Amino acid sequence: MTPLLDIKGLKVHFQTDDGMVRAVDGVDIAINRGETVSIVGESGCGKTVTAMTVLKLIAMPPGRIVAGQVLFEGHDLVPLPAEDMRAIRSKQIAIVFQEPMTSLNPVYTVGEQIAETIRQHEGMSKRAAMTRAAEMLALVQIPNAHKRVSDYPHQFSGGMRQRVMIAMALSCNPKLLIADEPTTALDVTIQAQILELLNEMKQRLGMAVLLITHAMGVVAETAQRVIVMYAGKVVEEATVEALFATPRHPYTQGLIRSIPRIDLAATQHVRLEAIPGSVPSLLNPPVGCRFAARCRYVMPECRTAEPLLVEKAPGHKAACIL
Ligand code: SF4
Repeated sequence: MTPLLDIKGLKVHFQTDDGMVRAVDGVDIAINRGETVSIVGESGCGKTVTAMTVLKLIAMPPGRIVAGQVLFEGHDLVPLPAEDMRAIRSKQIAIVFQEPMTSLNPVYTVGEQIAETIRQHEGMSKRAAMTRAAEMLALVQIPNAHKRVSDYPHQFSGGMRQRVMIAMALSCNPKLLIADEPTTALDVTIQAQILELLNEMKQRLGMAVLLITHAMGVVAETAQRVIVMYAGKVVEEATVEALFATPRHPYTQGLIRSIPRIDLAATQHVRLEAIPGSVPSLLNPPVGCRFAARCRYVMPECRTAEPLLVEKAPGHKAACIL
């Protein structure tokens, strides 16, 4: 089966005053139709740059796609001109950002903004697009949607604004939804509601979802397959069950050890472990394994050659010489 999205050997560099930052350095990611894949990792691991590159939303310059392909339904998006990319955004691939207040225009009603997205891609009358906008607000469970369509972004709470963003993203029935840290700016209880909504929308509309997050709890709630990124590279890839049951890469093991456990009795005191150190500079990445400086199992040979991402069990890959 041809994947819906097939990122092959992607390298994205950024020119800075200090030199070239290799933000994404040879990444392969495939997503099938209707599948939810999560990219997880710390800030600066390259997950957001990877997702933004799919939609060509990185600033070029200073960013540059140095190598690789982004195949969507078999067609490479990398060489597409800006006008063709505009036609693909929203209609085929839509995105929900982390902070809805900065993504919504404060001077237009939410209905006008959703309707404008629909009209750009579907050539509907204004009235029909507004009706569809109200239907989309109802779909994402905003009470009194037909009235709230005339409200401005500031009249919605943070969670409701994120629902509006999801309604806008889904308004043209995309085949792939990219959600970039969609719950990070929200309270914990609202986060759960938004994840539930994303899951429900995915079931109802049958789209694929690429979820970018730094939170392993969000991964466990939402994803079918997980890609773990570290310092611009994929270090592990597995189904969500395999990843949590038998994490193969020491970095993934560290991420999982840092999740609070609510399944233990109150008397069992387990200290949460942080991963010591920080992500290496991508101006001059270290030779060999990029995780070596933080790895509890590091050996001399880890610092000489870069470990390749290889299959350790069926469907389970890791880039570690252990
Ligand atoms: Fe640790 Fe070596 Fe594996 Fe890198 S290759 S994760 S340093 S054991």
